[in-house]
Amino acid sequence: MKAELPAVTLPGGRQVPALGLGTWHMGESHASAAQEAASLRAGLDLGMTVIDTAEMYADGGAETVVGDAIRGRRDEVFLVSKVLPHNASRAGTIAACEASLERLGTDHIDLYLLHWRGRYPLADTVEAFERLKADGKIGAWGVSNFDEEDMKELLGVAEPARPMANQVLYNLARRGIEYDLLRWSQVQGIPIMAYSPLDEGRLIGHPVLDEIGRIHNAGGAQIALAFLLTKAGVIAIPKSGSPERVRENFKASEIRLTSEDLRLLDEAFPPPTRKRPLEMI
Ligand code: NDP
Repeated sequence: MKAELPAVTLPGGRQVPALGLGTWHMGESHASAAQEAASLRAGLDLGMTVIDTAEMYADGGAETVVGDAIRGRRDEVFLVSKVLPHNASRAGTIAACEASLERLGTDHIDLYLLHWRGRYPLADTVEAFERLKADGKIGAWGVSNFDEEDMKELLGVAEPARPMANQVLYNLARRGIEYDLLRWSQVQGIPIMAYSPLDEGRLIGHPVLDEIGRIHNAGGAQIALAFLLTKAGVIAIPKSGSPERVRENFKASEIRLTSEDLRLLDEAFPPPTRKRPLEMI
């Protein structure tokens, strides 16, 4: 039987697992595409059903890999994709979404995000998102790389519609959002999707993570992910192109960090004591 992953409740009440699957750099080479799709399927087998992709990744190549991975099992997946800011006009957003659907081999995306803020007015993008929603092409929309001020502006523009999530850089080495955006989002009931939860792999091999890992009979990556799983309303989306490492990442959900572990993590990766501009990759 599958172990239960912790869940995050989305606005509207649907629950999704707090540990999902990233896809950046997938689809860049034909040689590794089958292994990448197999990695995503390994995650689905374990219940890591949130798959995050974007039209930007490998110029659509990652969406094609996702399409392969989810063929025949679309209903299991909570599918997230993103529109590039330079496509996010009223007509451009709709065209971009339709192209993504084609590559993904599906008729709907569960959550469609604006990848980051660009030159088009937020109102135009939101209008297009709402049209896509009314047409059943997306289930919900959200944003990425929005700081608290951007979110407040967005809420004002979108009212009465609301974003379903904000995807931002968040990991032990990048804890800036804990100063403000994280709490604000929790109060608003808008989940945070933590991207680059392993700091693009840079956290691997960190001595403090390895030391805590030894206590839990786990690896450092699992400790980095277990830390994010202690945060309410946060969905972490580690990427791995290896089924073994996907299974390793899944096991982060079985780790219960103690207050002493958390103290050691705070010492090695101090939480913010003042406002920092939102970091982006
Ligand atoms: P991650 O923090 O997920 O790190 C990925 C790297 O870590 C890869 O090199 C991977 O290698 C390696 N890795 C994964 N698991 C393990 C493990 N258990 N042990 C050792 N190494 C491991 O970085 P990403 O930048 O990929 O972020 C995750 C996802 O977030 C992206 O894939 C994308 O979907 C999303 N994202 C969104 C952004 C946005 O602007 N909205 C920006 C950046 C990312 P390998 O594949 O070889 O296992």
